[in-house]
Amino acid sequence: MEPGRTAGQLGGREVRRVVFTADQVRTRVQELGAEISSAYSAEDRLLVIGLLKGSFIFLADLVREIALPLHVDFLVASSYGKGTVSSGDVRLLYDPASSLDGRAVLVVEDIIDSGTTMKALLPRLQARGPTRLDVCAFLHKRVAGGEPPPRWVGFDAPNEFLVGYGLDHAEDFRHLPYIASL
Ligand code: 5GP
Ligand code: MG
Repeated sequence: MEPGRTAGQLGGREVRRVVFTADQVRTRVQELGAEISSAYSAEDRLLVIGLLKGSFIFLADLVREIALPLHVDFLVASSYGKGTVSSGDVRLLYDPASSLDGRAVLVVEDIIDSGTTMKALLPRLQARGPTRLDVCAFLHKRVAGGEPPPRWVGFDAPNEFLVGYGLDHAEDFRHLPYIASL
């Protein structure tokens, strides 16, 4: 277990194990930021769209590692409700207000599991005329077949229910600075 803040942050609840430590997360986010920085130029007018709520910490860390002018917006989709299994019903609760037309759009997602969320959302964003549309997922469970893979992935994740670094279980655990399994 990570030292220091853990007991207070967990509120007496247990996680099974730490899957990626805060140090591993930090290092990987720096690498992703460097790769993304060299994949775009200022002329791309990069728009980074974070999927709320799960991506909020990853997005905040990632954009600070991107050495380019960029704008940030958000998108709220919901598919899980309170359960731990995807319902397959992707609802769009908030659409980005920014214009996507003529800009490079990078969608930042916390975790890809079945791929249902991305499959539902990407065509809707593509229809708004971005010059490029790419995905950066912090975690990927690699369970789905046939989906266009995200351009960037932080870590391949075990097929367990993961929490921390933005990911929740019934809204708990989002603030853990590491990824753990329940
Ligand atoms: P998909 O649509 O790819 O099956 O699932 C994507 C969404 O499901 C993610 O944005 C995330 O909200 C949720 N999700 C999938 N796997 C996990 C997990 O292990 N932990 C948590 N907290 N959410 C998950
Ligand atoms: Mg999510």
